[in-house]
Amino acid sequence: MNLGSSTLVVEPLLTGSVTTTADGNLVLATVTSIRSRARHILVDTGGFNQQLALQQRLEPLPPVTSIIVTHFHWDHCANLRLFPGIPVYAMTEPKWFDRATLGDVQLIPTMVSVHEGDTVDGLANIWEVPGHTANHVAVAVLGDHGRVLITGDAISDTTDAAQGAPHLAFYSEMEARRQVGRLLTAADWIIPGHGAPFEVFHA
Ligand SMILES: [Zn+2]
Repeated sequence: MNLGSSTLVVEPLLTGSVTTTADGNLVLATVTSIRSRARHILVDTGGFNQQLALQQRLEPLPPVTSIIVTHFHWDHCANLRLFPGIPVYAMTEPKWFDRATLGDVQLIPTMVSVHEGDTVDGLANIWEVPGHTANHVAVAVLGDHGRVLITGDAISDTTDAAQGAPHLAFYSEMEARRQVGRLLTAADWIIPGHGAPFEVFHA
């Protein structure tokens, strides 16, 4: 499913989900590919349990040239180690790392700190959407389907969108709600952190 245009592919390579099992939750995160003729951006890299699937999906595609991390929970960034030397764009300030964050991401030498309004490779616009974590970004891309927002866990699935809040807000419930409202108002399509893409209908 390409949510971009004839010259820009925007598609989930892996579609996230959360499945409750007798032994705990099986958590899979969404990994999105944004690619033009010259550039290939990944938004998030998925968890350890998604490494093989990610490598399979990437095999026929042009090499990844940039990575954007929505936030540093392990299920969204564990596979960063598969891409040594590739620039990693993420919100690293204020330096506030959530529990369940991988400490070693702080050591990535190619990390580039991004802020609201920054553009990555001329294709992907950065929005700061704190709430689920303090340092959390969403990625906006414009295409034939309008504005696509790749939201990480600011909106992790359609339930979050319907409830107007992410079901986990480690940093600020109030701020998280404000950001969900902002994202839904601006989006034509959402690619959420743990679900399939969905269209946003405006009254
Ligand atoms: Zn998270």
